[in-house]
Amino acid sequence: MPWRRLLSDLWRRYLAQQIELGGAELVLGAPPAPENEMPIENKPARMELTAEPAEGPEPRWKKGAPPVPGPGLTIRSPAPVLLGSDLSALSTIEEVAERIRTTYCCDLCPHRTNAVPGEGSAEAELMLVGEGPGATEDATGRPFVGQAGQLLDSILDSIEVPRQKVYITNIVKCRPPQNRKPLPDEIAACLPYLHRQLELIRPKVILALGGTAGEALLGARKSLGELRGKVHTYNGTPLVVTYHPAALLRNPNWKKPTWDDVRIARQLLDR
Ligand code: URA
Repeated sequence: MPWRRLLSDLWRRYLAQQIELGGAELVLGAPPAPENEMPIENKPARMELTAEPAEGPEPRWKKGAPPVPGPGLTIRSPAPVLLGSDLSALSTIEEVAERIRTTYCCDLCPHRTNAVPGEGSAEAELMLVGEGPGATEDATGRPFVGQAGQLLDSILDSIEVPRQKVYITNIVKCRPPQNRKPLPDEIAACLPYLHRQLELIRPKVILALGGTAGEALLGARKSLGELRGKVHTYNGTPLVVTYHPAALLRNPNWKKPTWDDVRIARQLLDR
């Protein structure tokens, strides 16, 4: 092989490698054909090594973000017919919300001031699922508007996801007395609404806030420690489990692991 051709080959491989390693797009003009050498047949006049053009500065949330972990549990939600519900006839997220507001499905319902179906964008790419409404949510009919909600807002800010672009809901839509954990039969009665909400919104990523949400969505009896740090799959959608914001108010040491979890979810959104 003539030395010029060998060199240009090496140069091409080197540049391709740089691009793979994150370099910017390169457009090279064809090298001038040496006088004493035959032009290389079929050589393109322009060689383009395509890679994403370099964008602006790296977002702050990305700095030091943990790598996306490996897979966890994979589940398929039960078909609505198995759940004995006609929710599949409801074709919009607002129709589901209206059904929740106007029906009683368990013993929590008669004691509510307002049901809290959920709120946000019907086209949300990120869906957040908490445990159940607290006092402020019960009083207003809106999810995560109390103290835990304020913390959730700042978590969303820090990963550059505006609250109005996500959909926020809970496992149970009515407030349990004294904010106790919802009981298994209350969860079972309310869960079909959540499955239908997920079916209609079809988010790109689900973030379960707390062990109750993680367990209910995944139909698993596992601790939060076992559920965190994996990318589970709910009906084909990646699902990440993290601490509940109310738990962070009680124990600020959990903020750092939560920050890691939400940055994993954020990276999944970018995929
Ligand atoms: N905690 C929850 O789990 N959900 C809310 O909506 C508010 C507090």
